[in-house]
Amino acid sequence: KMQVGGNGKEEKILVLVRLRPLSEREIAQNEVVDWECINSTTILYRNSLQERSGLPTAYSFDRVFRGDCSTREVYEEGAKDIALSVVGGINSTIFAYGQTSSGKTYTMNGITEYAVADIYDYIQRHEERAFVLKFSAMEIYNEIVKDLLSNDNTPLRLLDDPERGTIIEKLTEETLRDWSHLKELLAICEAQRQIGETSLNETSSRSHQILRLTIESSAREFLGKENSATLSASLNFVDLAGSERASQSLSVGQRLKEGCHINRSLLTLGTVIRKLSKGRHGHINYRDSKLTRILQPALGGNGRTTIICTLSPARCHVEQSRNTLLFATCAK
Ligand code: ADP
Ligand code: MG
Repeated sequence: KMQVGGNGKEEKILVLVRLRPLSEREIAQNEVVDWECINSTTILYRNSLQERSGLPTAYSFDRVFRGDCSTREVYEEGAKDIALSVVGGINSTIFAYGQTSSGKTYTMNGITEYAVADIYDYIQRHEERAFVLKFSAMEIYNEIVKDLLSNDNTPLRLLDDPERGTIIEKLTEETLRDWSHLKELLAICEAQRQIGETSLNETSSRSHQILRLTIESSAREFLGKENSATLSASLNFVDLAGSERASQSLSVGQRLKEGCHINRSLLTLGTVIRKLSKGRHGHINYRDSKLTRILQPALGGNGRTTIICTLSPARCHVEQSRNTLLFATCAK
């Protein structure tokens, strides 16, 4: 259950649950909210019919966030520490997991922005070190990896490097000039994702997006000298495909193929996370999907992981919300 963090302290995978508020449309449709966060760690299903069905009604996690919590609060309490640990050389990954429209992208976009702002703030306060920030972005759709910073639509190949692990061949890596440069690159990713969306019919719910910030630093007094040790680590922001894909088993033709591939990455992620949450012993099946292969260096070793599970509060989504909480429970 516990993993060893970079400071040698035992740490588990952090599992957070974020409930979103009802949307205006859901309110107009008189949707009912059945979920309630009764304290900072427990979410309750309050529905008299369900209570009699014998299904669990209370679920506990490291932290649960009510519908009226801001992304800033989610970030400060659930992601800031691991986002900043990357400057100390620790690989970190923040996932958003949940059904389509539950708030994954809303949450990840805010968290990415806050994390990068904090990292730049840290860099300014540590002039004794020289930092280099690099950014890359990719999308995995149908087990095909695409570069979100390039117009070239050619699938990227994954290669095995004995020293560096999995390498994504030809992936664009931009050295960041400053904060506004990153904003420009994020806009390019967003546009690339939308191009895919119109031609492939709503790909964002079917594809996984990985934004990767790599931070290298070394002490200025040793720069250029033989004993200059460089710290290097990556922070991954992963906006996963809609988790409803993991439970859709019956489809036909292209959809079936898609379903299988999306299942493969999400299901493999599920088993990898489950094994990691029980400790890093024995064989972990990173190689079974592109997503877990790409994230292996961050998930294994000294990597730190936070999973933010997003939930729609509406009664009409209760089945998917339960599936998400089941995934979250297995990751604890
Ligand atoms: P997903 O990426 O999981 O499909 P989105 O992040 O696109 O879902 O969210 C769906 C809609 O709900 C968007 O219009 C988004 O702005 C809104 N939304 C999501 N989470 C929240 C929240 N916590 N507070 C307010 N609006 C939210
Ligand atoms: Mg989304």
